[in-house]
Order: sequence, then structure tokens, then C-alpha cells
Amino acid sequence: MDLGIRDKLALVTGASQGIGRAVALTLALEGAKVLAVARSREKLDSLADEARKSGREIHPLSADLSTPAGLENVIQAANELGTVELLLANTGGPKPGQAQALSLDEFRQAAEDLLYPMVQLSQWALGGMKGAGFGRILFITSLAVKEPIENLALSNTLRAAVTGYAKTLSREVAAQGITVNTLGPGYTKTERVEELFSFRAKQKGIGLEAAYAEQASQIPAARLGKPQEIAHVAAFLLSARASYLTGQSIVVDGGYLHGLL
Ligand code: NAD
Repeated sequence: MDLGIRDKLALVTGASQGIGRAVALTLALEGAKVLAVARSREKLDSLADEARKSGREIHPLSADLSTPAGLENVIQAANELGTVELLLANTGGPKPGQAQALSLDEFRQAAEDLLYPMVQLSQWALGGMKGAGFGRILFITSLAVKEPIENLALSNTLRAAVTGYAKTLSREVAAQGITVNTLGPGYTKTERVEELFSFRAKQKGIGLEAAYAEQASQIPAARLGKPQEIAHVAAFLLSARASYLTGQSIVVDGGYLHGLL
């Protein structure tokens, strides 16, 4: 199926590794022009090299989305490239901690990292999307939006906020050809997850593969996901083909969650 995104400008944030990187590359291979943003320039350059090998172009931009200057840089770079019609809004996960123990400053910081950049980027992108009569906005959240995860109070709280924002926005802009959805990854083998599982393995005195196997035993698919498996779903949600799919919260988790909806 042709996704219908050839030559459209895609802004992909959190693109230096993991899920964001896989989405950036997938969109580029599908013919989109990609502006890839993250804090680490070195990793973004290697992403651009990889795209070039396949004859595709990814524009790397190093910026911290939790700062006003970083956001301004992203907007300026995007404006130079054209009109952003596809937006994948993604940043890293917050620190762990219990709801009763985290400080207000920690909640504020998590909102700066996970909620405000999503609001600011999408509000800005809407201007161009409305002019184009076409837009796709996708926020990466977490499976925690359907089933909060113990000891991850910041993630559970802020992902729910992003989901509420996305649902509200989706109804406001649907008539203008703009869809707004969220994608919650389940346990997915990214660099970050490898770090977390290495820590978990050390604490339990087991090897990394044993720590993965323990998690996999709770997942009906019997393994963790691959970033590419999340990226394929994201690319569809960002495609011209997903034109009647909006206001949804899609979890891609190998069947992990037990809930009916
Ligand atoms: P990751 O930590 O490997 O990658 C995050 C990316 O975001 C990196 O490119 C990083 O540079 C970038 N980033 C972080 N903060 C930024 C900032 N302030 N400005 C610009 N760039 C920033 O994460 P991942 O494993 O690929 O996951 C992506 C998202 O999905 C995260 O929010 C994560 O919490 C969430 N998630 C992941 C899993 C999983 O199993 N991998 C499960 C549930 C939710």
C-alpha cells in the first residue's frame, strides 16, 4: 500500500534512538522529507547517513525540546524546509517514583519534558496543516495510558494528560483534514529499555537475557517488541491512508494489556 506521504514534510522528535529513530527512517523510506530532532547531534548524523545509503534525505537538528530556545530552533528549521504535514511528537520517559513521594518540582519537570513540548509543537504545526487542508499528528505515550504502571507515577500522570489533550484537539480539527492520535508502545527493545533491564538484571543478580525473558513471559507474544514494529503502526497512523482514524489511543504491546478496550 502506498502511504501517500511522498514529499510531505515530517517533523519527528526524539529521533536519535529507539522508537523515534525507527519512525524517522520509516517515513523517509516511504518518501517523506524528514526533519529529525533530538539532543544528540552525533546520533542524528548517523541516522541521516543511514537514510542517505537508501537514497533518502533526513535533516538532523539538535535541540532540547524542554527549553524555549530549543523549540524556537525546531520551528525555524521546519519553516525553512516547508510546511510540516506530519508530526510525530516524542521525547524520553521520565524518572521512576511513587505518586506519594515525588515532589511538585519533579512533576513540573516531567510536564516540561512530556506535555508542554507536545502542546507547543502541535499548536504551531496546526497553522500550516490548516492551510494545507491536511495534517497528521501522532503523540507517543505509553501502555500506561490504559493500565498505569507501578512506581512510574510521572509517566502515568503526564501520558494521561497528553491523551486528554490529543482527544480534545482531535475533535476541534477533524473537519479540516487533520487527524490527532496517540500511540502507546508496550515493552519495546530500545537502548533505553536495555539500560533499564540491565539495571533490573543487576539488582536481581541475573543476566540481561534472563531479565528480558522474565518480562517476555508476561507478554502473550512471548517477546518484547522491536522499534520497527512500533514504527510501522506509527507510519500508518501518520499516512494519508489513515484519513478517518482520529482521537484514538492505540497501544502496540504484543497483547500485554488485559483490558477489553
Ligand atoms: P529513548 O529514551 O530510547 O529515546 C527518546 C528520544 O527522545 C531520544 O532520541 C532522546 O534524545 C529524545 N529526547 C528526550 N528528551 C528530549 C528533549 N527534551 N528534547 C529533544 N529530544 C529529547 O525512548 P524509547 O524507548 O524510544 O521510547 C520513546 C517514548 O516511548 C518514550 O517517551 C518512552 O518513555 C515511551 N515508551 C517506551 C517504551 C519502551 O518499551 N521502549 C514503553 C512505553 C513507553
